[in-house]
Amino acid sequence: MELPVLKDLPHLTYTDGDLSIELNILGNREYTKISYPVKYGVFSRLETRDFIMEFTLNHEIRHARGKTENWLHPQEWLKRTRGNDWIYYSTGGYAGVFESIGEYYLPNLMYTTNSLLGGRPFAEPEVIRLSENWHRTLAGVDFNRPDMPGPVREWVDKILAKTPADLEKKASALFDICGERTTVLPPDARHSDYDVIPLTLSDGCLYKCRFCKVKNKKAFAPRSKENIRGQLQALRDLYGDDLINYNSLFLGEHDALNAPDDLILFAAQTAYDTLEFGRGIMTRPALYFFGSVDAVLNAPDDLFKELSALPFSTCINIGLESADPETLEKIGKPVTAEKVTMAFHRMQEINKTCQKVEMTCNFIMDEGLPAGHTTAMMALVRDSLRFTQPKGSVYLSPLRFGRPSREVLFDFYHLKTRSRLPMFLYIIQRL
Ligand code: SF4
Repeated sequence: MELPVLKDLPHLTYTDGDLSIELNILGNREYTKISYPVKYGVFSRLETRDFIMEFTLNHEIRHARGKTENWLHPQEWLKRTRGNDWIYYSTGGYAGVFESIGEYYLPNLMYTTNSLLGGRPFAEPEVIRLSENWHRTLAGVDFNRPDMPGPVREWVDKILAKTPADLEKKASALFDICGERTTVLPPDARHSDYDVIPLTLSDGCLYKCRFCKVKNKKAFAPRSKENIRGQLQALRDLYGDDLINYNSLFLGEHDALNAPDDLILFAAQTAYDTLEFGRGIMTRPALYFFGSVDAVLNAPDDLFKELSALPFSTCINIGLESADPETLEKIGKPVTAEKVTMAFHRMQEINKTCQKVEMTCNFIMDEGLPAGHTTAMMALVRDSLRFTQPKGSVYLSPLRFGRPSREVLFDFYHLKTRSRLPMFLYIIQRL
């Protein structure tokens, strides 16, 4: 399959009264953080008096926004993920969202997660109309327009032909390629608006911590090179024409850093070549994966240098959770506080020496944790560093799901002002 290039995607517009269609719009080519809604890559848009819907190059719905007075805010919108979830992006009243998560818009998810912020947009009738009932809403548009040019008519037929059942089936096909659904993406994937292609490098994780809500039962095991090649070929076929809108890779599942270093490098380079990230619309390819405390301590220095030499900017997110022995015991994480501390210091070294690799980490956050947890964490993120660092984000991950809390949010702001590393909240998001 040959991927399309920009010149194969002519920009066409059609307007007739209350219907307007624009094919092959070129959006931003680089992920950015900005306080108004930005769309990325090449896509097509249909607009009526009531709503706007945007579609991928595979004619699948991607974004939607209401235009009636019942829509919550004109700067807010819905996005459909590759896993066929809808996300409602809200401004959060613009108060504190950027400080909290490092992004201008707050993702409100349709499933229960650990977010401390946000409302209940999926209970709003207008949001339901455009997420749950988007196809019925679209089918209700009068497309019987004799003057509609042939290419626009063909495009309309194709978007109508993609039913919700088709999109659900395609999401299942994606999960089948990877082995199962990605239940958690690294917080750093926000830098690519979570538009990552998932490739399973290894299954399972080392620790099976008691507190963790995203783990599975699989023992840690790396995939073979042959399996990785097979996944990539299948991913290339599945993403089809829309592949040119992607340039970011997630190496799953929970501890890719623990895989052999030659396998990590092989997977990243083979993905770059097979998925043709170098030919895509989006610039600055990005690579994301998770790592464990033991994986950081065991990884050779050369791995990080070689990752730096790849055509990606790489973020590796390490689940430290706590540097306090009592807390580690309480949450059932079978690593010592000494090892967590050593891993933290190694990460700072890598951040200093490898320009294109950023090591980030997670600590848990909850009202019920021993007092030693915060003390031990601040000893690392503040006292162990002489100056404020621009690199090496620390993500605080609330332990409780479905429990937004002003008190915990207040604690977070207090810790953030004291941290010498950038500090954000981690909203657990799946693919
Ligand atoms: S926190 Fe990480 S290592 Fe622990 S069980 Fe969850 S996925 Fe596995």
